[in-house]
Amino acid sequence: MTRRVALVTGGSRGIGAAIAVRLAAEGADVVITYARSADRAAEVVGQIEAAGARGLAMAADSADAGALVAAVERTVAEFGRIDIVVSSAGIAPFGPLEEVTLAEVDNTLAIHARASFVLAQAAARHMGPGGRIICIGSSFVERVPYPGWTLYAMSKSALIGLTKGLARDLGPRGITANLVHPGSTDTEMNPADSPEAAEERRYTALDRYCSPDDIAATVAHLAGEGGRNITGAAITVDAGTTA
Ligand code: NDP
Repeated sequence: MTRRVALVTGGSRGIGAAIAVRLAAEGADVVITYARSADRAAEVVGQIEAAGARGLAMAADSADAGALVAAVERTVAEFGRIDIVVSSAGIAPFGPLEEVTLAEVDNTLAIHARASFVLAQAAARHMGPGGRIICIGSSFVERVPYPGWTLYAMSKSALIGLTKGLARDLGPRGITANLVHPGSTDTEMNPADSPEAAEERRYTALDRYCSPDDIAATVAHLAGEGGRNITGAAITVDAGTTA
């Protein structure tokens, strides 16, 4: 059977790295992108290969639409196909509303919203039936529990419209589009041992942080057989924070 090929943005660390390794364990060859962490990305490629899959890391800043399109084209050129794309690259701009600059607005929207659109559009040109487009959003699109996150919440909310639109545009071709909203997840962006973590954990129903593997398991479900009839949907994996 032909192996499937996945491209995961922001795969050098955290949630993206866990998704990349999980998809490899499920039998896909996996390309990851990163912005700065070449060494960390190479380690993830080692884990992909240890799972018996072919792996490749590419530097591609998600703020650069041309670099993302080039990453898709190189994936197809080197692996022969593209079946799954996951937009996970992200940043966490935080601070007083009055201090947010226009440059920060543009950069955040570029990395979270525009990049997800560009990746989906570029990949869809090559995908056949069974293709999977998955974005990583945030539970903040359902509830913003603290001040200082307006820009972040706005940028992630755009993914809801993107996902529903893609589901309609690509459904006739047998391609699905879905969104996974993590809650507090133990990564360098939001360590489970930070001073704020105890409060974040208290907001959950299960009294626990998510691990990157929790998010990866849901992505793997959507990317596999279990996702065959799910499209235009958002699944929140937040230990019940928004319950
Ligand atoms: P990390 O900070 O741990 O990792 C971020 C990843 O994104 C790294 O691989 C990083 O690459 C990459 N990245 C950042 N900016 C760019 C860019 N401009 N171009 C390409 N790659 C980039 O974050 P998480 O793993 O925690 O977050 C992953 C996703 O999950 C994000 O979209 C985030 O918003 C979302 N999320 C996270 C939550 C959490 O609690 N952790 C909660 C809700 C959503 P490099 O190593 O090169 O910098």
